Amino acid sequence: MKPISMLSIACVVAALAAGLCSAAQSDGPEIKVWTQMEKNDKGEEKEVVYMTIDGVMVHETDPAKQPQPAVVTPGTESTQDKAGQAPSDAVVLFDGTNLDNWTSTKPEEATKWRVENGAMMPTKGSGMIQSKQEFGSCQLHLEFATPKQVEGEGQGRGNSGVFLMGKYEVQILDSYGNTTYPDGQVAALYGRSIPLVNSSRKPGEWQSFDIIFHRPLFEDGKVVKWATFTVLHNGVVVQDHAALSGGTGWRGPHAVTDYAPHGDKGPIQLQDHGNPVLFRNIWVRELED
Ligand code: MG
Repeated sequence: MKPISMLSIACVVAALAAGLCSAAQSDGPEIKVWTQMEKNDKGEEKEVVYMTIDGVMVHETDPAKQPQPAVVTPGTESTQDKAGQAPSDAVVLFDGTNLDNWTSTKPEEATKWRVENGAMMPTKGSGMIQSKQEFGSCQLHLEFATPKQVEGEGQGRGNSGVFLMGKYEVQILDSYGNTTYPDGQVAALYGRSIPLVNSSRKPGEWQSFDIIFHRPLFEDGKVVKWATFTVLHNGVVVQDHAALSGGTGWRGPHAVTDYAPHGDKGPIQLQDHGNPVLFRNIWVRELED
């Protein structure tokens, strides 16, 4: 340990001599940089640069100062024929077998959604379904398939949606050769944010959403930080850290709802919009705000 403490003293002396430099965003980490003269293996005096980020040395190997990340076994990718598997640390909401982790959004009412061939789906008049467990900021994976038999057009074709915290809708729609208002097509943050591209697969084919969501923050009844969404649709980035400017609820043909204060967590909801959209392989990983 002695060489380290000698080095620490040297650092302080050098820092005092060289002056501490810092370069940080106003809300970013504290960065300190300094130099000191050290002897290399050949006995030559060389100037060495040191840098800390929030007090931790760059390339620190002491686990007490910089712990190793937790080990997670990654999941497996889905194919059209077979659903993939969740990573080892995910909360699995639907693995193709049952609706044990789900409930109707109508209090005291059993859900009328059903499971068939490894997929969950709404039935006529069933209404929305929601996860029993509630989440705030999270990573959400889900897969969906709009009806192979194409019926209807615009918002009437393969319409569903996934609601984060039971409030903020990422639109699900059969947008394969089906034009509608852009802020209501598949992967739109409904009424608020148009997807960057339309990376839809054909009706009846399995598609995926990977959503990285950070919840909005409220103080004294007002929103002080908007929610943000990054969405990959079939592996393509379609919402790139998009800031959600308010709610996504229907408020007539040309308006959506405002933000309204709510708790830190809420359920994942899936919409019944009268079209038999299928879902499979749904899992969540909670994130820091
Ligand atoms: Mg919808």
